[in-house]
Amino acid sequence: MYAGAAMASYDYDLFTIGAGSGGVRASRISAGYGAKVAVAEERDLGGTCVNVGCVPKKLLVYASAFSRDVEDAAGFGWTAPAPSHDWKTLIQNKDTEIERLNGIYASLLDNAGVARIEGRARIVDAHTVAVGDDTYTAEHILVAVGGWPTMPPVPGIEHAISSNEAFHLERMPERPIIVGGGYIAVEFAGIFHGLGADVTQLYRGPLFLRGFDDDVRTHLAHEMRAQSIDLRFDANVAKIERAGDGTLRATLESGEKLEGDTVMYATGRHPLTKDLGLENVDVAMEEGGAIAVDDYSRTSVPNIWAIGDVTDRVNLTPVAIHEGMCLAATLFGDCPTKPVHENVASAVFSQPPIGSVGLTEAEARARHGDVDIYRSGFRELKHTLSGREERTLMKLIVDPATDRVVGAHMVGDHAGEIIQGVSIALKCGATKAQFDATIGIHPTSAEEFVTMREKAKPA
Ligand code: NDP
Repeated sequence: MYAGAAMASYDYDLFTIGAGSGGVRASRISAGYGAKVAVAEERDLGGTCVNVGCVPKKLLVYASAFSRDVEDAAGFGWTAPAPSHDWKTLIQNKDTEIERLNGIYASLLDNAGVARIEGRARIVDAHTVAVGDDTYTAEHILVAVGGWPTMPPVPGIEHAISSNEAFHLERMPERPIIVGGGYIAVEFAGIFHGLGADVTQLYRGPLFLRGFDDDVRTHLAHEMRAQSIDLRFDANVAKIERAGDGTLRATLESGEKLEGDTVMYATGRHPLTKDLGLENVDVAMEEGGAIAVDDYSRTSVPNIWAIGDVTDRVNLTPVAIHEGMCLAATLFGDCPTKPVHENVASAVFSQPPIGSVGLTEAEARARHGDVDIYRSGFRELKHTLSGREERTLMKLIVDPATDRVVGAHMVGDHAGEIIQGVSIALKCGATKAQFDATIGIHPTSAEEFVTMREKAKPA
């Protein structure tokens, strides 16, 4: 139990700015150690993930996948009238669920004894935070304010929306143009396509999803195009205009003009550090605007800490939560703990989805030299009757010097669910021989990860 609280001359042992995934977890766990904690939030509790990120996104992904299920059902003998979809019902039901989650976050904080303060917090000095007209002192300050969508300065960008607005649109876009080639862009391309829209996705480089394994990127691009998503690479928007009838026109640098009813930018997010008062305490920043932290999430000011997307390390909700848990242990658990950012599994909820953990082939070659590649491409059993041509990709990357599996990647149904299990094996340092010694579950797609025997021939 943390003993400092009794002697403290500050209002709080920890004052957290931002009640998103990382901030809430750090606050709750710190309070559990006996610290006196307050958390300030200017928007809804739960941050990006709960309100305009992971949770509502996954609900929209579920919504959009039903159209595919209906198509697939025909081969299994089902007939049904052509389905129609009501966007308003989806958004209302989604909003109701998000409100429920906001309430759960409030109870979690209340039950942990964390004081909730509504409003925008600014750091006044190293031990003082102001929220509106009130000021609070704290031994430690934690900045966990997350990020915000970046809208590049393209002429006419004011006509475009970001993912923040996409979750609250009055009407389902029928002809959306999505700009970007990261997680959010591919996920929304799948969502709108599944809900019946004619989707165009534009990416500025030669192949989207930079940072993912090249086979994964190529495979997903092929599958999205096979679904008739108009996926364009090396496509840059020069300007956006709105016609009198509301139609939006995006002129590409090539001169080509595309028309749509919505232009959505998913071109990355930036740390939300503006107007936080960081300049009052001279917190050192990274070049891109993130707060610089050491291995323990400590900023250049010894009692100010930062976790989550505002530090731009690995920008994923479970990583922010992990960083929050480590920080609480460091500050109040008498157990200095560094967050680990290696072998973090992630999924892209594209359609089909991607699951990934460990190194890409390119990263593995750079780190280990020669590596062994095991690759499997197959049509899922379900699609032998559904008639869908879609193929699943699975890939293992092995360091031959140690036989350890250093990367596992998948594109196909349930990829996120499957890779989560595989990530435990990688965390344990499993070898390819141990994968091979594992008996598969038949018939599943997942069993392919333990039955790949043939090394892929060098490209
Ligand atoms: P990402 O950083 O993943 O992707 C941004 C994309 O926009 C890249 O393709 C990038 O291209 C492109 N881009 C950047 N600037 C411009 C520009 N000026 N003009 C045109 N294109 C541009 O960001 P997202 O917005 O997709 O997602 C934000 C973060 O949210 C991610 O980092 C991710 O961690 C997180 N997230 C995680 C999800 C999950 O776990 N499933 C889901 C959604 C979001 P280039 O590659 O060439 O730089």
